[in-house]
Amino acid sequence: MSKKVIRVGTPRSDGDYILYGFSAGRTEDGITFRLGNVLAALRLPLMSGQENRLTWKLKAPVKQSIRFQIGKDEIYNASLREPDQWTSVTFDVPREKCNGMTEVQLVADQFVLQSRTEACFALSEIMLEAQGADWPELPRPKIEAAGMQLLFGDLHIHSNLSWCGGGRNGTPEQNLCFSRDVRHYQFAAITDHAEHLVKDGTWEDLCETLETFNEDGRFVTLPAYEWTSDLYGHRNVYLAEPYKKIFHCMDPVSSSPTKLWASLAEEGQDAITIPHHPIRREFPMRWDEHDPRFQPVAEMCSGWGSSEHYGNVLQEIAYSEPGTSIRDALTRGLRLGFVGGSDGHQRVPGTGGLTAVFAREFSRQGILEAIRSRHCYATSGAPIKMYFYLNNFLMMGDEWEMNQYQFEGLYPLLFYVSVEGTAPIETIELFECNELVASYHSSPIGSLVRSAYWDESEFLQVDRRADEQVVVQFVIPHWERYYTSSVPRETLPIDPRVPNHDSFYYVRVKQKDGHIAWSSPIWLLCRVGECHRVKGYQHI
Ligand SMILES: [Zn+2]
Ligand SMILES: [Zn+2]
Repeated sequence: MSKKVIRVGTPRSDGDYILYGFSAGRTEDGITFRLGNVLAALRLPLMSGQENRLTWKLKAPVKQSIRFQIGKDEIYNASLREPDQWTSVTFDVPREKCNGMTEVQLVADQFVLQSRTEACFALSEIMLEAQGADWPELPRPKIEAAGMQLLFGDLHIHSNLSWCGGGRNGTPEQNLCFSRDVRHYQFAAITDHAEHLVKDGTWEDLCETLETFNEDGRFVTLPAYEWTSDLYGHRNVYLAEPYKKIFHCMDPVSSSPTKLWASLAEEGQDAITIPHHPIRREFPMRWDEHDPRFQPVAEMCSGWGSSEHYGNVLQEIAYSEPGTSIRDALTRGLRLGFVGGSDGHQRVPGTGGLTAVFAREFSRQGILEAIRSRHCYATSGAPIKMYFYLNNFLMMGDEWEMNQYQFEGLYPLLFYVSVEGTAPIETIELFECNELVASYHSSPIGSLVRSAYWDESEFLQVDRRADEQVVVQFVIPHWERYYTSSVPRETLPIDPRVPNHDSFYYVRVKQKDGHIAWSSPIWLLCRVGECHRVKGYQHI
C-alpha cells in the first residue's frame, strides 16, 4: 500500500485536487483547514482499477452528519458527535468508483453559520491509500495541454489603399511580406478604410492578395476593413471569408454600430467588429451601443497610444476624452478582451500595438475563434509571452457564472501569471475591477510582491527564472471584504455576505524598456439568490 496525504488549506497542497464549496481558514495552533458548506465537492486523485482507502480529518461546530457521495451513490455516512473535535473517518471507495481524478461530494445535514462564515464542517487532511505509486495528477495549466498555440499578429495595418496615409504605407503585399518575413508574425489583417475600398474592385483585388498570402499553419491573413465613424468611434470589421459585401459608415444601412451589426447579421456574415483608440478625443467611442456577439474585444493599444484609462502613460491627456477608456467600458459591465495593432498611417506593422491569441487551430477560423472567446491579449508592440490563469481552470478571457456558495468555494483565488518578456521585466500588476490589488516589482535586491489582502509569504510565490522570465502567483484569500459592498444587506434575499455583482481581473506587465502587455480579463459573475437549498439555518 502506498499513501498520499493531502494537507488542505494551503494553495500548494490544494494543487493536488479541486475544491468546490470550501473556504480557507486557520486555527490558532496553526492547523490549516477548509470550511465546507452543506454541499461541498472536491476532485481527488484516486488510483483506478482498485479499492482506495480514504481517511478524512474532520470536525464540525455542531453534531453533524456527513454523507460522502460519488455521483448519486452514497459511499459512506459519518456522524460527528463531538462538536469542535477533530475526528478521523476512514472508509473504502469501491473499485468501480475510482477513476483517476474523481469527484467526491460531501453533503452535511445541518446548515451552520458561524459568525460571518458558513462552517457546516471543517476539513484539514485527507489520506489516500492504494496499491502502487501512480497517483493521478491534476493537469497543470500548460497552454500546450489545452491544445492551444500562442500566435502573434498585427490586427490593424493600413496600406496605400487608405488615402489618408498619403501613399507612405506601402502596398498590401509589402505590408504582408513585412509582417510575415521581417516581424515573423503568424497572422495579419489589412484594415483599410471601407469607403476607399468599395470602388473599382479594390476590395476584390485586396481579397485576392489576402488569399494568395493565406497559408494555414504558417501565416494567416484576415479579410478586414475599417468602419471609420467619427460620430460613434472607429471599429474594424474582421471576416471569416473573403469577397463578402463590405459596409462603410456613410452608407445609411450601416451608419451606426447597431445598423452595421444588423447589416452584417442580415448578410449572414461571420464577423467581428473591434473598437479602436476609444479614448482619442478626436473620435471618442460611444460605448452605449454594444453587441457582445460582434464585439468581444477592444483595441487596448496602437500607434495612437493606449486607451486603458484616462491619464495612462502611453496616452497624452490633451488627446484623451474622459469616460471613453477601456476601463470605463469594463465598469459599464461590457465584457471586452484586449487586442493591439499598429494602425499605421506612416508606420510599419507592429509599431505601437500587437495582438497575441491562444488558438486551437492555426487558421482564420481558429484565430477569429480565439478573439471571439477573448483568449487573446494586447501588447504595445513587443511579442511578450504571457499566461494568466485563475484557480487552475479559468484562463484570460473566460467568465464563470455561479451562485454565492460556489463563489465562496472559489476562494482563495490563485492568480497564476507567467511572463516571458523581450526585455527585463519591471512590474507585473493584478487589477481587480480596475483597482490595483497585487503587484510584483523587480528590484536590485530581489523581487517584491505586494498584495492588498495578504502578507503571509506562504501564500505568495515568485519564481524569477531570468530577468525576462518571471512566474508569479497572486492570492486573494477571502471574500469577506465584500462586506463593504454598496449593496444594502437587507435587500439581499438570503445571505448578506456576498456581492450581487461581477468582478473582473486583468494583468498588466511592464518591461524595463517601456513595453507593456495587458491580459484580457477573467470575469467572476456572482448571482445572489440562485441557491435554494438553505431554508433555516443554525447561527452560532
Ligand atoms: Zn481608425
Ligand atoms: Zn485605422
